[in-house]
Amino acid sequence: MQTIDDLDVAGRRVLVRVDFNVPLEQAGDGTRRITDDGRIRAALPTLQALLVRGARLVLVAHLGRPKGVFVSELSLAPVAARLGELLDAPVRLASDVTGVTARESAERLGDGELLLLENVRFDARETSKDPAERGALAAELAALADCYVADGFGVLHREQASVTDVARLLPHAAGRLVGRETEVFGKVLADPDRPYAVVLGGSKVSDKLGVIENLLRSVDRLLVGGGMCFTFLAAQGHGVGSSLLEADQVETVKALLATAADRGVEVVLPVDVVVATAFAADAEHQVVPADAIPDGWMGLDIGPASAQLFASRLADARTVVWNGPMGVFELAPYAAGTRAVATAISRLDALTVVGGGDSAAAVRLLGVDESGFTHISTGGGATLELLEGRTLPGLAVLED
Ligand code: ADP
Ligand code: MG
Repeated sequence: MQTIDDLDVAGRRVLVRVDFNVPLEQAGDGTRRITDDGRIRAALPTLQALLVRGARLVLVAHLGRPKGVFVSELSLAPVAARLGELLDAPVRLASDVTGVTARESAERLGDGELLLLENVRFDARETSKDPAERGALAAELAALADCYVADGFGVLHREQASVTDVARLLPHAAGRLVGRETEVFGKVLADPDRPYAVVLGGSKVSDKLGVIENLLRSVDRLLVGGGMCFTFLAAQGHGVGSSLLEADQVETVKALLATAADRGVEVVLPVDVVVATAFAADAEHQVVPADAIPDGWMGLDIGPASAQLFASRLADARTVVWNGPMGVFELAPYAAGTRAVATAISRLDALTVVGGGDSAAAVRLLGVDESGFTHISTGGGATLELLEGRTLPGLAVLED
């Protein structure tokens, strides 16, 4: 796989696919504010390295799911503004994706200048299932530049015009972010230092069954919290009150537990949980043993004894991957479990990786020291697919 150092970029136009799909909050007056600019910051090393070499950058990004039509709330305008602040340079935003404005603006770029194309998902061909439609958009994108750099790690699992099709049409290379993500996950997947522990949480087991199945081949310990732990507790025969439960996955989880036992993988589940009468910050709540959740109560966080147990089962680990919050961290009364486990991981002398959009956001929101982790991945679905052992289409095209 080529890197940006292998490309001749001085005075040339470089199409860079980035992942600027940041969370936005709409204020009462209609203005939109970026609540977490982590993904924009993550692209800076690549952009800066290209700009100082005199490249003329044409950035391609998406925001949300506009489904192929122009939606003003999903314009990249706030992203262009934030990127300009971070780079301390003007960022022009084209009002279209590959239309007249995009073409003219790309042509007028000077050395070391950059242009952001409008939300690529405003063009229905971006996500089309028809390779010919995607190919047509890819050809228009390719016409804007001389070479292509893939730095949107979070979209590499997508077969989309600006991810895979355009890479086939231009000389291509991986950006610094994609290089770093693949290096870290390459190490974790192929040759983890042991003990190797994975902490899983988040809302749905069904999202992560493939990950669990694959991880059971390699991990020494699997720690499960978050909403998904209730399906595990149910598989062990415990009642879970009105907690999040995927009843149709109980049998699958039973089989996974049996596989884990066969392979000598230690599965660590919560021993206590914070239960509440409703999914709300002001609901009545209490800590109960994990095998005694009362009817009518829902588990919204792991309890303090569980947080301590998890920390102790991580203490000697040499490799830790964490994906998925331990509780509903967005609501203050249920954030303690996620904060405790994240803090414990951040203090380990080990290779530590945070994967998942909400997990990364939790680290920043809860004020856990980001520098305590080896790597905070920008990928959600892409990270999960790597952990499932799948080949990402957007990476595969960079190999040719
Ligand atoms: P990630 O994006 O890091 O992969 P997920 O998307 O799988 O994580 O899950 C994040 C969501 O899981 C958060 O919004 C959080 O509120 C929710 N969650 C965690 N624990 C629970 C729980 N006990 N009940 C319901 N939702 C939960
Ligand atoms: Mg998520």
